[in-house]
Formats: sequence, structure tokens, C-alpha cells
Amino acid sequence: MSQKNATTVSSQEIYQGAYVVDPAFTKNYGKRFLVFTKGKGVWLWDLVGKKYLDLASGIAVNSFGHGRNDFARIVAKQMATLAHTSNLFTSPSTIEFARRLVGSSPLAKDNPYKLHHPAGYFAGVHLGNSGTEANESALKYARIYASRKPKPNGTKFLAFKNSFHGRTMGALSVSYTAKYRTPSEPLIPGVEFIPFNDLDALTKTLDSSFCAVIVEPIQGEGGLTPMSVDFAQALNTLTRRHEVVLIADEIQSGMGRTGTLFASQALGLEPDIITLAKPLAGGLPASATLVRAHINDLIHAGDHGSTFGGNPVAAALACHIWDHVTKEGFLDKVEALSQQFRSGLEALRVEFSFLGQLRGKGMLLGIEISENGLTNKDLAGLLEVLKKHGVIALRSGSNVLRMAPPLCISQAEVKQAFDKLRAAFREFDKLK
Ligand code: PLP
Repeated sequence: MSQKNATTVSSQEIYQGAYVVDPAFTKNYGKRFLVFTKGKGVWLWDLVGKKYLDLASGIAVNSFGHGRNDFARIVAKQMATLAHTSNLFTSPSTIEFARRLVGSSPLAKDNPYKLHHPAGYFAGVHLGNSGTEANESALKYARIYASRKPKPNGTKFLAFKNSFHGRTMGALSVSYTAKYRTPSEPLIPGVEFIPFNDLDALTKTLDSSFCAVIVEPIQGEGGLTPMSVDFAQALNTLTRRHEVVLIADEIQSGMGRTGTLFASQALGLEPDIITLAKPLAGGLPASATLVRAHINDLIHAGDHGSTFGGNPVAAALACHIWDHVTKEGFLDKVEALSQQFRSGLEALRVEFSFLGQLRGKGMLLGIEISENGLTNKDLAGLLEVLKKHGVIALRSGSNVLRMAPPLCISQAEVKQAFDKLRAAFREFDKLK
């Protein structure tokens, strides 16, 4: 078809300052979007040149900030060399990425990550493109394992109230929020939800009719509630007892975000499968489903696949990110930043009566918006006031202001963050 005769869709979008209204997206994200045009370090700039401090990191993705020349060089080099192979073949950067991830095995010869697990080790990685896809892979591997092991388990999945594992049908089926689930029902049958951190409910519910338990060490979207150490121990014991696969969704909590490489480590949680995504490849789509040997041993060629999984460009950058996160002293810096953030938030809590309990761990932090009468709408309003003051933050659940700042934020920038938060909170306080 000639260019002249080609059917074109006329663009309907309207620009209002730094916002675009009605771009040609489907309607699920709403109508009006703030348009960012560039980023550097922890800063973002919008369409009209206003500067923002990014305390969201693209929902816990840009752990090393924006506009990095080292990332650009790695991506350009790999792009010019080999951009894609499909998973019928592989590439040196993909092999290297998988090797690093499997090196996180607790039983790897010279395991530098100080993980411990008595039951086995990570023997393989299924590479994918997003968090939800990593969880789909985990659920499939668990079902396949449960049906092929010498004494098969049932097919049910156990998940938790307020969980979030993604938006594709499998991951959505083990996610709790009705607003996300209802429009797409019927979902996968055989999923049971019990209260998070409830030892009694876990003991009463879990048996060999389940193939897997899927759990977040810290509920990222569900209010930043951390798992208790007792609950982690009970999950270890009961999943072993009933030969149920324990899946830790570390998509938001992993890769150093909470102060350890995986949040499971700090809790003593001993998963059979770990899922990773978000910060894995510096803003490029990538995910990993780490699988222990006893499960991998029962997987056959062709059981699962992905055209883009392990893409050489994403893998090349992911190797670089992995080396940053696992560099000596890096996680200590995350811990120090976390302390600085926590004491800043404590000070704000004293100052503003609408701020409640601190939530989260490491640099995945939140604070409850707690005063009587405050509703969801008010939290949305607070996020708008923060934007006005040049701060990008997130929500978690219905009443928690969530922050996942880049892990490369400097101490001076943390100070600036608190000056901006204080000014925004003052304005919000007067608005009510
Ligand atoms: N699991 C957790 C814990 C998440 O926080 C998210 C996303 O926020 C997902 C899974 C889904 O990841 P994605 O949006 O990349 O599919």
C-alpha cells in the first residue's frame, strides 16, 4: 500500500502544559498523563521543563537512576553486536546473566551472597520479560513438578490476602485485590487466600492438595506489610512437610531494595523458586525465575518458553546491574540510606498528625496516612500536592504513601527530598 493510500488514525491527544490528555492508549490507565522527557540520576524533567525528585523509580525499577552513560554504552554495544536470538538459541551475555543468577545458589561453590538453604540449590533460571511473566513461569514450574514427582500433589495454589503478583491470568488469579480480579473473571480455579502472617490459618489450610504457596516477603502493593520471621519459619516447615513448592515473589523486594540481595534472606525464608524482575535490567524488560534442582530435574524440553526471554541486550545490562548490587559494601550503603530515610520520616510523623505508622524495609518505605476521615481520594490528593512540589511518589494499598527511591540517591539529595516532603505536607495539611 502506498504511503498516500495508507489508512491513518488521526491523533486525538491534547496537550495541557506538561500533561497529555487522551493519547492513543487503551482506557485502563485513565485519560491524563504527566509527560516526562528526560531523566538524570534521581531527577526527572517534564514536557515544560519542570524538575522532579524521583522517589518512585518507575515503580522500583530504576534503582540506579536515570540517564546513565555506562548503561547507554552497554546497550548500544550489544545492540550493534547482536540484539536478539530467540530462545531457540542463546548468546554470551544471556549465558553470563544466567550464570550470575545461579551463582546466588546457597550451595554454589563460592557463594558470595551468604544464602543458606538446606534443601537444595538454584539449578536453573527461566528468563522472561516482566514480573507477571516470572510468576506465570513459577506457577507453571510448580504445577509441573507437583504432577511429576514420585508422589504427586494436588493442583491448588495458596496465596495471601492483599497479595499482588501481576496482571496476566495466572498471576492475577493469585492476586487478592477484587478491583483487579473481578473484570477478568473467571480466573484460574483452585486458588485459596488466607490472611498474611496468620500461623493458625496456614497450619489449618496447607496440605498436599496444594502444589505451591506464592508469597511476597514484603507486600509491595498491599500496604508494605513485611512477613514475620515466625511466619517465614512456618512456611519453610509446612511446605517441606507437605512437599509444596514455596515461591517467593521478590519482584519488588529483591535485588538489594530491602537491604539484602533478596528480602527472603533477612527473614530466613527458604524458597524453592524466587521470581525477580523490575530493577533487573536497568529499565529494560527482563525477569528471572530461579528454580531449585529438585524442580528443574523434572522439567522437560518444551514445557515452557518465551521468544524474548533472555534477550541479549537486556542480559548485557542485567550483568552490569548484578555486579553493582553484589559489589562489596553496596548493600551497607542501602542500609545507611534506609536509616536516614526512616529518621526523616519519623521526624515528619511527629510534625504532622495525618501521618501514621512507618512501613516497609530498606529503601522500600512507606508511611500510613492515618487521620480519621482521610480516604483514598485524599491519598491521591497528597500525591498531586507532592507532584506540585516536584516529588514523584507512589501509593501502596488504600492508605500508605510508598517510596522506592533510586538506591544511588546521595545524602544531600535525601536532605532535599525531606525539604520537599515537608513543604508538600504543610500544604496538604492546610488543604484538609
Ligand atoms: N509481583 C510484585 C510483588 C509486584 O510488585 C509486581 C508489580 O508491581 C508484579 C509482581 C508484576 O510485575 P509486572 O508489572 O512487571 O508484570
